[in-house]
Amino acid sequence: MKDATSQLQEFVDGIEASVAIIGHGDAGALSVTACNEAFFQMTGGRNRESRGFPIPFDALLPSYARFEFRKKLQECFDTGVAQELELAFDFREGTRWWRLSLKPFRHPGGNATVLEILVTGLDITPKMELTHELEVSTSRFRSVVNAAYDAIVTVDQEQNITLFNRAAENLFGYDAAEMIGQPLVRLLPEQYREQHPGYIHHFARSPVNSRQMDERNRINGLHRDGSLLPVEIAISKINVGGLVEFTAIIRDITDRVRLMDLLQKEAATDPLTGLPNRRQFLDAVERLLDASGHLSVLMLDIDHFKQVNDTYGHDVGDEVLRVLAKVGTGVSRNLDIFARWGGEEFVAALPGKNIEQACETAEKLRATLEKQDFAHNWRLGRAIPFTASIGVATRKPNEHDLEAIMKRADQALYRAKESGRNRIEVDAEAGVS
Ligand code: GH3
Ligand code: MG
Ligand code: MG
Repeated sequence: MKDATSQLQEFVDGIEASVAIIGHGDAGALSVTACNEAFFQMTGGRNRESRGFPIPFDALLPSYARFEFRKKLQECFDTGVAQELELAFDFREGTRWWRLSLKPFRHPGGNATVLEILVTGLDITPKMELTHELEVSTSRFRSVVNAAYDAIVTVDQEQNITLFNRAAENLFGYDAAEMIGQPLVRLLPEQYREQHPGYIHHFARSPVNSRQMDERNRINGLHRDGSLLPVEIAISKINVGGLVEFTAIIRDITDRVRLMDLLQKEAATDPLTGLPNRRQFLDAVERLLDASGHLSVLMLDIDHFKQVNDTYGHDVGDEVLRVLAKVGTGVSRNLDIFARWGGEEFVAALPGKNIEQACETAEKLRATLEKQDFAHNWRLGRAIPFTASIGVATRKPNEHDLEAIMKRADQALYRAKESGRNRIEVDAEAGVS
């Protein structure tokens, strides 16, 4: 039959927790009075063969673990209050982590009470490894987010900012620290702030998980300095523990917008004169016709322009076209559109002007050209005389057929040419002679 001590030893060796009793030896040094198999394993199993208790504390514990452990033991002895600590033990297979709790207890021994400490330890390696893994993946995530070229902003259910990466800092001019917790709408121009939360709620309820925000219209963000930022935004929602969060990836498209504006302007502009071209003119006048009210048009053609080219050369012909563009723009008011129709033909749209007022403008333009009543330094050193004929037409009440209006102006122009050039003629249907 086993004695009681070896039965107890068997019992404590069977538990997974490490257990030890630590007290002071004869010379006052820390010594392990008793411990179980798990405690030996925890410390690396040094001197376990001897198993002759007490074992000096320093003999059992690897040197790197002694300092902290001893400090806590000392605290425990001094204060009589339980302590806790986490210790790492290095093995060839890797590090193992233990959480130790130290409880002082008194028991009678000899003629005084002896103060010893009961140490119990739990292996928390799996938990530590998990935490470590999480830290690694979190820091990986963070470095990807921060190295991203695009601005990344996440918001919580309340639409307050929870993440603001470096590109976002650069784009919007704020530090992440000052934006975390702030409402997202701070990054939006004033006029969108009211309806924006509604859009997000709508998106939250929709079955779609990510989408490109409004591809047709331009979206602007608001920089700290109050300037507008043309941006392109892709949003997605993620479920975080039952709560919906939103991530926006925001790309600065200032350069692209500038380029698109430039291309659009180029496509709409006549390169020689810088005036709007025919297509741009027609688009703009179509829009003017959406509203009601007076609208008159002029169609102008330079007289005997072929002769100008033949006499002075094509370059001088070009110069005349540019001069005409300048003079035509000069007589135009704010809302008027003066454009190059093609070749040596120009057109003007005069919103708000009836036929008489349009005739006045046409006559003024014609006279200005004839009298060369404008400042220009001709490249040949002397003025190149030229005149123009102009046909005038006006919109009939609520007429929307731009082509018909332009045709009547053209017919009037034809009559101006027929009846001698350097004159204006009015659309026969306009009721004015
Ligand atoms: P009309 O009084 O009947 O209008 O006679 P015109 O000579 O002005 O008319 P025509 O249509 O016979 O000639 C137009 C000329 O305009 C012919 C063409 O070479 C010239 N032209 C068209 N575009 C340009 C241009 O961009 N630059 C120059 N220099 N000439 C141009
Ligand atoms: Mg012509
Ligand atoms: Mg001509």
